[in-house]
Amino acid sequence: MKDLIIMYHYVMEPEHWKGSVPISPGEFRRQVEWAKEHYEIIHPENLHKHTTKPKCVLSFDDATKDQYTNAFQILKELEVPGYFTVMSGPLIEKKVPIFHLVHTVLSHFSDEEIWEEVSNRVDIDEIKNKSAIYSYETNEYRRFVKYLFNFYWSEEQSRPYLEEKVISIYTSLDMFIDKFYLSEKEILEMDAGGMSIGVHCVNHLPYEGSAQDFYDIEIRPCKKYLEKILNKEMKLYTPSFGGGEQSIQMQIELLPILKEQGFLLGFTTEKGFTDLREGFWHKRIDCNQLTINEVV
Ligand SMILES: [Zn+2]
Repeated sequence: MKDLIIMYHYVMEPEHWKGSVPISPGEFRRQVEWAKEHYEIIHPENLHKHTTKPKCVLSFDDATKDQYTNAFQILKELEVPGYFTVMSGPLIEKKVPIFHLVHTVLSHFSDEEIWEEVSNRVDIDEIKNKSAIYSYETNEYRRFVKYLFNFYWSEEQSRPYLEEKVISIYTSLDMFIDKFYLSEKEILEMDAGGMSIGVHCVNHLPYEGSAQDFYDIEIRPCKKYLEKILNKEMKLYTPSFGGGEQSIQMQIELLPILKEQGFLLGFTTEKGFTDLREGFWHKRIDCNQLTINEVV
């Protein structure tokens, strides 16, 4: 049996978070209890530790607040470590990536309400036709607004609209950042509480083909920030979007730079089991795609 790395994003009740697909705290607890029984849940840094069972890493992307209020508390109770990766842009530059604004807006407003607000500013027929790529979404308004924010509008067009909606709920963008992301204090507490902390990104950009530029813009500032607040070297890396469309190229081109900078392991969004002692990059399985009974 091979090692398993489970990928988590939001750990919260689905009815409270309609903008994406979270795992509920109850389901999360069941999954971790199952993993604890069948695997040895380890810190990724301890990849060479001798274990009788195969190893498991619980990995969390994006460092949203629910990972402190829900996931961290459950992991402490169950006495197992998690691996949390930080996006430093919102904390340092006060800039929120578009996809988090979209998740937030879709969680607080109905799709129909948003569509009514924007439909006089768009080519309705074009969006209706092209949004068919989201055929798995049963609500047609959800298809329209997803196509609008992900493809039809540029970031420059989407950002002012989305920020205004978010501010209408949270008073200001700063307030939103305080409520939505882990604070420095929480990161310190999680580190002191036995969790592993790693680098995710600065502004959650996909890889675009220049390894050194990507390292300097998206990785180095986040690594430096975490090393400064935690007073230790950061050795774990999880690229945003797994690198994006050029993920394979990214894995090859970025590897020598990451190794030179002291990184030990990297985690992708490719689906599968892995052997933690072999190679740098490791596949993960999304918590919502992990069928517990199948794996056992
Ligand atoms: Zn991410």
